[in-house]
Amino acid sequence: MADSARQQIVIQGIGVSSGITVGKVYLMGRPLERVPKYFIKESLVPQEVERFRQAVDASRRQLMGVKEEVSKREARELIHILEVHQMMLEDDMLIRETMNRIREDEVNAEWALEKVLDEIKNVFDTIDDDYLRGRKKDIHYVGERILANLLGRKIEEIGNLQEKVVVVAHDLSPADTALMARGKVLGFATDMGGKTSHTAILARSLEIPAVVGLESVTEQAQVGDTVVVDGMKGVVILNPAPEALDYYLERRKAYEVGEKQLLKLRKEPAQTLDGRPIQLLANIELIQEVPSVLEHGAEGIGLYRTEYLFMNRKDLPSEEEQLENYKVVVRKMAPYPVTIRTIDLGGDKFVSRVDIPAEMNPALGLRAIRLCLRDVPIFKAQLRAILRASAFGKLKIMFPMVCMIDEVWQARSILREAMEELKSERISFDPKVAVGIMVETPSACLLAQPLAKEVDFFSIGTNDLIQYSLAIDRQNEHVAYLYQPLHPSILKMIQMVVQAGEKQGIPVGICGEMAGEEAVFPLLLGLGLKEFSMNALSIPRIKRLVRSISLAEMEKLAQEALSLSSHTEVDAFTKSALKAAGIPEEIL
Ligand code: PEP
Ligand code: MG
Repeated sequence: MADSARQQIVIQGIGVSSGITVGKVYLMGRPLERVPKYFIKESLVPQEVERFRQAVDASRRQLMGVKEEVSKREARELIHILEVHQMMLEDDMLIRETMNRIREDEVNAEWALEKVLDEIKNVFDTIDDDYLRGRKKDIHYVGERILANLLGRKIEEIGNLQEKVVVVAHDLSPADTALMARGKVLGFATDMGGKTSHTAILARSLEIPAVVGLESVTEQAQVGDTVVVDGMKGVVILNPAPEALDYYLERRKAYEVGEKQLLKLRKEPAQTLDGRPIQLLANIELIQEVPSVLEHGAEGIGLYRTEYLFMNRKDLPSEEEQLENYKVVVRKMAPYPVTIRTIDLGGDKFVSRVDIPAEMNPALGLRAIRLCLRDVPIFKAQLRAILRASAFGKLKIMFPMVCMIDEVWQARSILREAMEELKSERISFDPKVAVGIMVETPSACLLAQPLAKEVDFFSIGTNDLIQYSLAIDRQNEHVAYLYQPLHPSILKMIQMVVQAGEKQGIPVGICGEMAGEEAVFPLLLGLGLKEFSMNALSIPRIKRLVRSISLAEMEKLAQEALSLSSHTEVDAFTKSALKAAGIPEEIL
C-alpha cells in the first residue's frame, strides 16, 4: 500500500515521448533479486511449504481469471502467453523443486523460489532449442507472480489493466509496449533504455508520455504511489508535493492546448519560405496508428515497421492476414503512399515462431534482411502479401539493414520469384512497385553509389546508423549521452547518401528519429533531403518549422556545419544561425 506520508522523490532520466502524465504507479517486472532471505526453523518448514503452495494456487486462480477476461476480447496472442504461464505453474521442475529446497535448505519460500528460478534460467541458456530458450522470460513472469503472491503484492496484467495507471518497470520489451495500445497505460517509466530503443519509439507512436534510463525507479516506487512523468524534461516525480502536482497539472494543460493549436496546421502546406514543398510522412508500428497519422497531417507513411504484426502471438501471420492488414493501411492512407518495410526482427525484437539464436550481440546478429534471406518462406509470404496489397493503392517495399549489395540482389530475386508466382496464379499486383532500402549501416553509406543503381529509393535510418557508426547500443542508458545526431560523421554520411541518390536520380528520404527533432531538422533539409518520415506527433511541429525557414539558407547552413569537427560546435553554430534567421528559441 502507498504510504501517504511518503516523501517526494525526483528522478532524472531520458525523456523519450512527449507529454505529461499523472497517475498511480503500477510496478511491473521488478528484478527478482531483492527478495527477503532468511532461514526457517525445522519445525516451521511444513508451514512454509504450505505458504508456498497457497501462493502457487493463488497464481493459478489469477491466471485463470485473467484468461477468462481476456477471452472476452480479441486477444489470441495474450491467451497463448497465459496458457504457457499456466503450464509452468504445473511444472515439477519449478514447483516441486522449490518445495524440496524449502525442506532441504530450511529457507523461506521466496529464497528457495529464487534459487530454483536461477537454476532453471541457467538450464534454459544451455538448451539448444531457441523456442525453449525464449521461454526464459515466461519463467521470470511466472516466478514474479508467485513471488508477488508470497509477498502479498497486488498484480495487474499489462494487457488487462482495469484502471488507468503509470507503468513503472525495470525494462519493457517492444512487445510489452505494443500491448499498451489497449489504452490503459497513461505513461511509463523504466530503469533501462535509450532514446531510440524500439520501446521508446513505440511510446512516441502510441502518444504515451515516457521516461527511460531512470536506473533506480523500480527500487524507489511503490504500488499505488502517485507519480508524474514529464516526457519532455525526462523527469519522474514520485509522491509529488501539492505545489509540484499543481505545477505539473498546469504544464499538462498548457501542453495539451499547444498540441491542439499545432493541429490547426494540418491542412497547411509543408513549404519553406522560398517555396520548396517538403514531404512530411509518418512512421508507424501498428495499424491503429493510422487515424492519428492522418489527423497530424502526414502525407503518407514513410516507414511501416511490420515486425509488430508478428509479435505477441504464437503463430506467424499468414499471407492472407498480412494482406488484409497492409490493404487496410494502404486504403486508409490513399491517395498518399505507404512504404512497407519487410520484417526487421532480431536485435531487440523477437517473436516466438521465428528461430533466432541467443546471441552475444543481437544488434550485430541475425536480424532484419539477414534473417529474411535465411528464412525464405517467411520472407516470401510477406513479399507476396505486400505485392498483393500493391493492387489497392500506392505502395513501396523497403528492405532493412542492408550491408552488402548481394543482399539486395538476393532480396530482389526472391521478390521476382514472388511476382512470377502471383502472375501464374493470376493474382493482381503492381508490377512497377518501387523497391528501396534502408540506409542504416556505415557500409551502405559508403556503398551508396553502387547501391543506388540497384534500387528505386533510399531511406536513411539514422537510429541504427548512429548506433553502428558511433558504436553505441541504442538501448543502453549508460551510453545514451553519445547518441548525437549532429555528430559530423553522421552529417557527412547523410550527405554522401544524398549525393549518391541525386547522381542516380532516385529519391532519398530519412526515417530515423532525428527527422522529427526540431533542433536537427534544418540541417537535414540543408543537406538535400526531401522526404522526412517521423512519429505522427512531431509532424505539426516540423511543419511549423518548415514554414519558417528558407531552403537556400539551410543549404548554406549545412555547408558550413559540414566543415566543423564536433557535434557541440555544430549544435552551437546551428542554434545561433537559426536564431539570427529569426526562429524563436522555444521552437528549437
Ligand atoms: C532506423 O534504424 O533509423 C530506423 C528507422 O529503423 P528502426 O528504428 O526500426 O531500427
Ligand atoms: Mg533500423
